[in-house]
Amino acid sequence: MKYILVSGGVISGIGKGVIASSLGTLMKSCGLRVTSIKIDPYLNIDAGTFSPYEHGEVFVLDDGGEVDLDLGNYERFMDVTLHQDNNITTGKIYQHVIQKERRGDYLGKTVQVVPHVTNAIQEWVERVAKIPVDGDELEPEVCIVELGGTVGDIEGMPFVEAFRQFQFRVGRENFCSIHVSLIPQPKATGEQKTKPTQASIRELRGLGLQPDFIACRSLTPLSNEVQEKVSMFCHVPFNKVLCVHDCASVYHVPLLLANQDVITLLGEQLKLQYRLSHKSALNRWKELAYRFENATRSVQIALVGKYTKLEDSYISVMKALFHAGLACNCKVQITRIEADDLEVETQEKSPVTYHEAWQKLCKSNGVLVPGGFGSRGCEGKITAAKWARENNIPYLGVCLGLQMAVVEFGRNVLGWKNSHSQEFEEDMKKENPMIIEMPEHNTGQMGGTMRLGSRKTLFKTEESVMWHLYNKVEFVQERHRHRYEVNPQFVKDLETKGMKFVGHSEDGERMEIMELKGHPYFVGVQYHPEYLSRPMKPAAPYLGLILAATGKLSNFITNGCRMSPRNEHFDLEYSDTEEDLPELTSSPS
Ligand code: GLN
Repeated sequence: MKYILVSGGVISGIGKGVIASSLGTLMKSCGLRVTSIKIDPYLNIDAGTFSPYEHGEVFVLDDGGEVDLDLGNYERFMDVTLHQDNNITTGKIYQHVIQKERRGDYLGKTVQVVPHVTNAIQEWVERVAKIPVDGDELEPEVCIVELGGTVGDIEGMPFVEAFRQFQFRVGRENFCSIHVSLIPQPKATGEQKTKPTQASIRELRGLGLQPDFIACRSLTPLSNEVQEKVSMFCHVPFNKVLCVHDCASVYHVPLLLANQDVITLLGEQLKLQYRLSHKSALNRWKELAYRFENATRSVQIALVGKYTKLEDSYISVMKALFHAGLACNCKVQITRIEADDLEVETQEKSPVTYHEAWQKLCKSNGVLVPGGFGSRGCEGKITAAKWARENNIPYLGVCLGLQMAVVEFGRNVLGWKNSHSQEFEEDMKKENPMIIEMPEHNTGQMGGTMRLGSRKTLFKTEESVMWHLYNKVEFVQERHRHRYEVNPQFVKDLETKGMKFVGHSEDGERMEIMELKGHPYFVGVQYHPEYLSRPMKPAAPYLGLILAATGKLSNFITNGCRMSPRNEHFDLEYSDTEEDLPELTSSPS
């Protein structure tokens, strides 16, 4: 097993995750089996109880793990299936060590950070690195480990120390350290400054880790002098000072690294045996980047949610929309709308906000209501669903978005004015609750108690748009994260009026996919298709939304859902050519 440790310096949030997953992509494109581990030095056991405001989206894995959103990056870039143990937190490590202490495993010894915690970290990494992630039984060969936070943080210290020891444990030829640092470019002089990077490397070396590569994040490409300066002051060869300047899209990053010969350099350092020429795989990334930046048509999608101020709160949803756009060769413009701005109360308190929100909604070609928790904004989501339903605007409701669409239908079509979800109206437990609690998933505890992870959804009928979009399969396997569900008691009433539940859980108890008859595209799913969306494999419900919003859906279905290369609008096929594609311009954004 070869380990690549990616650490960060100066500040966090400079794209360490994207660089680490791009390295994984490069290794994969050379035919190696690659896995990844993300370390988050906080005390939470997992990300399940995080507020999307503070930390961005909670990503859900097949095994039900609620993890840091960076694992989503790895899955999307490397097309792998990770497990909850691939996300290490300080909380998990301490819980493990304390449980061992209680069992008496340390035989009367004083339990300390060094060696007990640091050993636990090393054992965890070695164990998890071996778990297959490609859907087969084969052990990975390369493990990318991303250490969250920045070097020097108190929280990260036990991890840095663990990896200082780890390089000797696994042997220097099996371990490579890459430090991602920032080269600021203050506006006043426009000069690229290396001092913060020098300080950060000094700190890292002081802790016993000498970086093999330094990836410099900067606004514009590094000048030769700056690259030389970093090399000299940081004691790293010139060609191992990598330049990762701001690009027009993340799809450039693997290409940017490959252009700096990272594949050969890593191969030499870690004595890697590549099986494939990476050219054709990289050409596909080139094509993706090209499409992303050069699509001529665009489509406007309203994202009606609650955490619209922080972009990371809906990162998988946004990526899934972009992936669907890439498949249709069209640029998806996302308009984020705060759901409560659409509510009547806002009209009274702040008419300008209210009308602006409605204007944004009315201008959109499609509406997406994503998952969510808590009552704030739910009336706004219900209104958005009503508007889309009545005006034949394509609508996709994900999880809470499905539940709100059902409530809306109950209220306005079935005429049950008080209909709501039990999540929001305690007293509605008595009267027509369209959405009810799943009893086995309410244990009174918040952490890890939802219906989580991958479950089967069986199609009940072939008279369904989603069945076509999913390529006429018998069932689909998608990831869940919820406590409430559509009340089966009212399904008959809803179906009589045209709201069809075309996909059910395996036992038939849970309503998983909803479609409205006679509407161009009004779909709700109880699961989260965005977690399995990949740049080259868009999630079917999202693809449907974009196709419908661009007026191409019925044509697409009539054509047998084929993304034919001859039909530019449905061109999903990426070339496998070994030849060089023309260079991309990578303008800063
Ligand atoms: N709050 C709803 C539930 O628990 C929806 C959850 C979600 O959208 N992920 O069922």
